[in-house]
Amino acid sequence: MQSVLIVEDSQVVMKVLRHTAQRLLDFDLVFAVSRAEALTKLKEGDNWLAAIVDLNLPDAPNGELVDDVLALGIPTIVLTGSVDDKKRDALSRRGIVDYVLKEGRYSYQYAVNLVNRLHRNQGIKVLVAEDSLVTRKFIVEMLSRHLFQVVEASDGQEALEAILADPEIKLLLTDYNMPNRDGFELIHELRHRHEQEDLVIIGLSSAGDKYLSAKFIKNGANDFLYKPFTHEEFSCRILQAIESMERLETLRQMAYTDVMTGIGNRRFLVEKARGLLSQATAAKTPLALAILDIDHFKHINDDYGHDVGDEVLVHFAQALAKSLGRFVVARTGGEEFCLVMPGLTAAKAAQILNALREQVTQEFVDTAAGDISFTFSGGVVQMPAGSLEGMMREAEQLLYRAKDAGRNQVLCP
Ligand code: GH3
Ligand code: MG
Ligand code: MG
Ligand code: MG
Repeated sequence: MQSVLIVEDSQVVMKVLRHTAQRLLDFDLVFAVSRAEALTKLKEGDNWLAAIVDLNLPDAPNGELVDDVLALGIPTIVLTGSVDDKKRDALSRRGIVDYVLKEGRYSYQYAVNLVNRLHRNQGIKVLVAEDSLVTRKFIVEMLSRHLFQVVEASDGQEALEAILADPEIKLLLTDYNMPNRDGFELIHELRHRHEQEDLVIIGLSSAGDKYLSAKFIKNGANDFLYKPFTHEEFSCRILQAIESMERLETLRQMAYTDVMTGIGNRRFLVEKARGLLSQATAAKTPLALAILDIDHFKHINDDYGHDVGDEVLVHFAQALAKSLGRFVVARTGGEEFCLVMPGLTAAKAAQILNALREQVTQEFVDTAAGDISFTFSGGVVQMPAGSLEGMMREAEQLLYRAKDAGRNQVLCP
């Protein structure tokens, strides 16, 4: 686990910091009240994620510890009682992540949350498309301070190729004036291929052209920054863009998830199936679709109560996700589940599902009402069988046949 160092000599401030950090951070927390103590603890530990450091300590009145920590390559958030323009510039030049004015609970929460931000940034890849080496290096340095993974491109064409080759890139910072392909052409091309949510684009405009910023937005950028910008302005803009992307991602996640079982819902299935069906059609490869339904589920509810019925549903959903998670698995109705299995014929899919059925029906679900067993039935069809809706209807017909034939079986045509 990564460690976080927090150094503050004021007992009152430390109390709030400690409480806030313990509540919000899931890292090894190391506390110190002086430069001497901090240096000892730095020597003892390793794998530091970040440090929150008071600028004025009794044994380091001029931010000496900030320099010590930065010299070790540890991202540093500075706590300070006051700040003016001169101090702000000086702090930024030292290479800190950010500074926080000691103005109360909210500001400590900001500092602590910034640590979580840094942690998440480590997993976010950013591409900087900028032909000016000086500007590019400046931007790369700032992004690195915030622990982003950084990729560079010195012209628009190179940037396009880098993004198409690496779907991990989540944020693009692009200049307008670049050789081979300018910033607008680059955005145009990308927006043709990517959903707006998949890639956040921030245009970099020179203050000289006041129309450039609006043009960036109209061409599909999410935001823009005027050059030259300060470190603070830059990080506010970038972090805001990243956070709105994450909020969108969370919303999307929620919209596609069945709350009770945690697996995909019908919307998720429809969305995923659409892409897989057209891929399978284009590649002329098989694709199976299955509908599964728990047998006599109503009896489980009637005999043990609705809550126990819920427990059985969660158990079944998890069992499906665990053994067939490589396919698309969704809860499409009360006790009905649907799977899309690319690469499989209906016969092969039925074989796999029957094997799972044998296994599941021999297990007991550990519920509040004791151990319960259950069976399920299913129908499987394969492409080509027309649309998703058509395939689901056909699979449902087979499911009914399985029910009529005595349940506890998965049938294919
Ligand atoms: P069959 O073998 O023919 O499928 O019989 P069944 O009893 O499983 O099917 P039926 O459609 O008659 O009943 C399904 C029941 O599932 C009725 C409904 O109240 C219950 N149900 C639907 N959603 C939920 C849920 O989220 N939780 C619980 N506990 N029960 C649910
Ligand atoms: Mg102090
Ligand atoms: Mg340029
Ligand atoms: Mg049923």
